[in-house]
Amino acid sequence: MGERHRKLHGIMICVPYQGHLNPFVDLALKLASSGIVITFVHLEFLHRKLCQTHHANKTDVDLFSKARELGLDIRFTTMADTFPLEFDRDANFKEYWEAMVRDFPPLVDEFVGNILASDRDMLHFLVADTVHNWAAAVARKYNLVSVSLWTQSALVYCLGYHLDLLEQNGHFPCKDEVEEEIKYVPGVESINTKYIMPYLKQSECESVISRASRLLFEQGKMADFVLQNTVEELEPQTLSALNRYLPNYAVGPLNFSQNISTNTVTTSLWSKSDCTTWLGSKPPGSVLYVSFGSFVHTNKQVLEELAYGLLLSKVDFVWVIRQGILGDGATASVLPAGFQDAVKERGLIVGWCDQVETLSNPAIGGFLTHSGWNSTLESMWCGVPMICYPIGFDQPCNSKLVVADWKIGIHLCEGGSLDRENVAHKIQSFMNGGDLERLKQNAERVRKIMKNAVEPDGYSRTNFDRFLKDLEAKIHFQS
Ligand code: UDP
Repeated sequence: MGERHRKLHGIMICVPYQGHLNPFVDLALKLASSGIVITFVHLEFLHRKLCQTHHANKTDVDLFSKARELGLDIRFTTMADTFPLEFDRDANFKEYWEAMVRDFPPLVDEFVGNILASDRDMLHFLVADTVHNWAAAVARKYNLVSVSLWTQSALVYCLGYHLDLLEQNGHFPCKDEVEEEIKYVPGVESINTKYIMPYLKQSECESVISRASRLLFEQGKMADFVLQNTVEELEPQTLSALNRYLPNYAVGPLNFSQNISTNTVTTSLWSKSDCTTWLGSKPPGSVLYVSFGSFVHTNKQVLEELAYGLLLSKVDFVWVIRQGILGDGATASVLPAGFQDAVKERGLIVGWCDQVETLSNPAIGGFLTHSGWNSTLESMWCGVPMICYPIGFDQPCNSKLVVADWKIGIHLCEGGSLDRENVAHKIQSFMNGGDLERLKQNAERVRKIMKNAVEPDGYSRTNFDRFLKDLEAKIHFQS
């Protein structure tokens, strides 16, 4: 078969967290919509969880069958990670990631090798979440073009890219208590050390996440293409500085915007409660949506201060409290006794919901968020201002973008511990105060930027098309 007629085939191995899964699935759909054959791979335990949640525990479900009915050539399979299915990876996060960093790469190597051996007709390439530390080595071994999907902000990528520079300037590891402006990273005008990722700080630099992050930023540099789930007009200097070093394409927002709906593929790790009926009885802009995403843990004291803060604020709210939020496997109620009775019809508490649908509801006036990157993008997509309460990982950086750069949110409390009176005051003044108009106007401006980006001639669409052309050329050149 002539080179030019061989089909392109992307092998995509997913990171097993909601905030990674959503954009990764969307990317798979976009690539397949462009005529590329995709093999999408879930870790077995995650597939099992999705099946338990949505398919009455049937395990032979092909999550992409509907996408195929729509004409996309996406093949679906699973692979084992390093633990038995029943191992609680959430409650044993550190142990799990130690093993993923150490023992998973050889499994992937063998898995990819088998796929390649079973099909010699197509032109294969690898698409990995940047978080996967094995991607560069596997791509090199099998002479595959490698595409890296970064699911966080370009700002975080840029800081990670320049770890050596941070180190030279004494900011990696970064002293925990010192607050200094960093002004020397190309593409980052200024960022205070209090907003950089906690895993770069002295107290966390021996943690598995810190070690894994260093590795992934190093390996990420070897990718042939880096796709960023951000919008060019929102992080222009950072992206253009990164372009000096990387084949870098801003193709966001992924997951909730375009073409073939991600709804054709089951991605939600928990079943969703409906909030629309309850929200339907509330005046426009009156309800605060509260959620800390799919992944971070918090403690009982924080939840208690938030609960009483919400109560004292007298603002109506929807609060997502997912099972396992305390990280100790506890299933009992994590809220103060009698809280639900005290808030009565003012508050709706759910275990999980359709976040984009909820944020799009006219009754929602604000989002109290942990500043996860997907949540941040979704809030921006819906034009909803934010109260930021970052807990870890990339979240402090994201809150800096929201508050200082785009001016579409406020901080709940910076650094200090949560106090119910303060929480109530912040929520009240955010939802009813004089600053709200300014925040809303800015949020509306950002919403338009995001919508424009995904128009046929918008930045994200044209960047994606440019990426496809470059990808094809590189694969043909390398094969
Ligand atoms: N999410 C959801 N329902 C909820 C809460 C969250 O579907 O009740 C989704 C949300 O839409 C987002 C993802 O979970 O896409 C969370 O990703 P994010 O990057 O914000 O945070 P993470 O979970 O990675 O900390």
